[in-house]
Amino acid sequence: MNSEQILQHFIETNALLEGHFLLSSGLHSPKYLQCALALQYPEDTARFGKAIAKHYLQAGIDTVASPAIGGLVIGYAVAAALNVRFLWTERQNGQMTLRRGFNLKPGERILVVEDVITTGGSTRECIAALEENGGKVVAAASIIDRSNGIADVGVPRIALASLDVPSYSEAECPLCVNGDRPIKPGSRA
Ligand SMILES: [Zn+2]
Repeated sequence: MNSEQILQHFIETNALLEGHFLLSSGLHSPKYLQCALALQYPEDTARFGKAIAKHYLQAGIDTVASPAIGGLVIGYAVAAALNVRFLWTERQNGQMTLRRGFNLKPGERILVVEDVITTGGSTRECIAALEENGGKVVAAASIIDRSNGIADVGVPRIALASLDVPSYSEAECPLCVNGDRPIKPGSRA
């Protein structure tokens, strides 16, 4: 799957909307990405999983890990394609942690998988939680990179497609100029 096919799939599944949106950050944007919609059908998700896994067939990955919730579906698909175990980290009182009895062997080689990387924050927090528990995170991957390649997560990183999603404060939003108001994604009446 090349990056054009991936973005086309996102458009077809309404996972990538174009218009005038109010993001949860309060910023306005002409695009909105809801990755979960692109991963509703297991067959599609399996293809994305294989496309990521392909890069790591020879990397000696023991385990795939994802930060909940965004990374869970695609992370599981990548683990299935690599035939390795899958686990996740999640926030507890705002702190990314490894819970639910998941244990890592010292030096266990881990690939961290996310759906979308924007700032890389949750991937970095996931990596830190895994390393605190003895894991060795060797790489990170996502379906979409929204950082223009900039997000640095401290380990080598790939993405299947790159997407430039500009966002603006209300005062600077070019879409607001004609009095048009942004809609909140997911609140469509
Ligand atoms: Zn606006």
